[in-house]
Amino acid sequence: MSAAPILRVEALSKRFRGLLAISDVSFAVEPGSITSVIGPNGAGKSTLFNLVTGYLAPTNGTVSFKERPITGLATNRIAELGVARAFQIARPFRDLSVAENVRIGALFGKAGARDVAATTANALALAGMAHLATEPASVLTVGQLRHLEVARAIATRADLLLADEPCAGLNPTETAAMIDVLRRIRASGVTVVLVEHDMPSVMEVSDRVLVLDAGRLIADGAPAEVSKNPQVIAAYLGTPD
Ligand code: ADP
Ligand code: MG
Repeated sequence: MSAAPILRVEALSKRFRGLLAISDVSFAVEPGSITSVIGPNGAGKSTLFNLVTGYLAPTNGTVSFKERPITGLATNRIAELGVARAFQIARPFRDLSVAENVRIGALFGKAGARDVAATTANALALAGMAHLATEPASVLTVGQLRHLEVARAIATRADLLLADEPCAGLNPTETAAMIDVLRRIRASGVTVVLVEHDMPSVMEVSDRVLVLDAGRLIADGAPAEVSKNPQVIAAYLGTPD
């Protein structure tokens, strides 16, 4: 890795009673990249995001953001440092306009001076939503709601965006539009970690792919390399080992 990693996860584990949802996972994320986390349902992808954002405390291991340990910090503190998450289920304020919803992200999020109007406008543009700015959130389609959630996360001026299945339930056209948004976000200098099921999209947009299976990291590499990995193919096809 050429630059210092923006995110480093070391020997991370999370146990829910008898279940080891994340098991001794280590990796580092290069700044300015799109890293996708893939794996079957229940593999631990959302739990990994919950551990990075401080929503859950790990059983073991550490998470560092910009080489600073963030394990055990409160979620709002981690957000103030510049980590944002776009949730799988977008929950906007339906009576507010699109711009007002995004402005909420700009008012919170990363600490420090900011120009709320410019930050909001930039986030709307990156998410391809400038033309919808004055519409009430209640009129948005499912696809547009996903874009709104991403815009709100970007408006926090995060340096790292965690996107958990932003394309789930979207049609191919909407999926392609979301992938374009993620590319623009990367081009703007924001690092993206993506959980996504649509393999063609993952292979096309990712600089790197991490594969989780039953909480363990079973592969980590370039998309072409990972897609040929027999362990990965077995995890997806459910081949008994
Ligand atoms: P994924 O996002 O890859 O589908 P999750 O991270 O949501 O998987 O879940 C991983 C495993 O941990 C699943 O077996 C799930 O049921 C379990 N799990 C997730 N969150 C909790 C929780 N808060 N309490 C107990 N079990 C959980
Ligand atoms: Mg999940």
